[in-house]
Amino acid sequence: MDLGIKGKRALVCAASKGLGKGCAEALAAEGVDLVINARGEQALRDTASEIAARHGVQVEAVAADITSDAGRAKVLKVAGEIDILVTNAGGPPAGHWQDWSRDDFIKAIDANMLSAIALIQVAVPGMIERGWGRVVNITSQSVRSPIPVLGLSNTARAGLTGFVAGMSRDVARHGVNVNNLLPGIHATDRADGLDGGVAKAEGITIEEARARRQASIPTRAYGEASDFGAACAFLCSDQAKFIVGQNLLLDGGALNVTM
Ligand code: NAP
Repeated sequence: MDLGIKGKRALVCAASKGLGKGCAEALAAEGVDLVINARGEQALRDTASEIAARHGVQVEAVAADITSDAGRAKVLKVAGEIDILVTNAGGPPAGHWQDWSRDDFIKAIDANMLSAIALIQVAVPGMIERGWGRVVNITSQSVRSPIPVLGLSNTARAGLTGFVAGMSRDVARHGVNVNNLLPGIHATDRADGLDGGVAKAEGITIEEARARRQASIPTRAYGEASDFGAACAFLCSDQAKFIVGQNLLLDGGALNVTM
């Protein structure tokens, strides 16, 4: 299926590895030129070269912290006019609801809510002027089904979800579609980190922690970043023009609800 986005230009944030990289790679496979971002310069450059070589598209790499004003300014300057924006950043640390301070909440809200909103506020007006645009925000299954130890994530991402619910409907008439992709457990470094935390807290091996979490998913396996990326590419496709303000959950059926 031709997604109709060959030659478009995308900014994919936090994309040197994991889910962001999966999205960047899937867009590149559709012929989309990329600006990708992460903080670590070497891994980012390696990913940019790898994607450019494999898919024959232009890939520019901007090393910066996307959660800081200066970092976003640096990335947006290189990105210029973009047709597609994929927002993403690292997730907040696990912990206990009683321990989080105001500063912890502000940090999480900055990283997983306000950064995405700031990027949207800069990128979407140009998309509206040109009459076509796509925004996909990588959020989390935690907006549908809270994860108690990830309360900072539950809180910040719920805020972004509320913002998108309203603004997506405001811009849809201009050919700009804004949606959220909600990862369940995917096999990335983030999942390894969380499994490591469980293993330490419960005195079990990381393999046991992983097996336990896999058993809680109907597919009995973690998701793959490449499949996640393919869903992102579809939400960025021309054919996704009737999908507005949705929250697509990719969790192997882990959320046990009828609808
Ligand atoms: P990952 O494998 O750890 O990759 C994170 C990527 O983001 C890396 O490229 C990292 O590179 C970059 N990054 C992190 N913080 C950044 C920042 N401040 N500015 C720019 N780049 C940054 O994580 P992932 O599994 O892909 O997760 C992506 C997002 O999905 C996270 O918010 C995570 O909480 C959420 N999520 C993941 C899962 C899962 O199971 N994997 C489930 C639910 C939600 P640098 O470190 O070099 O910056």
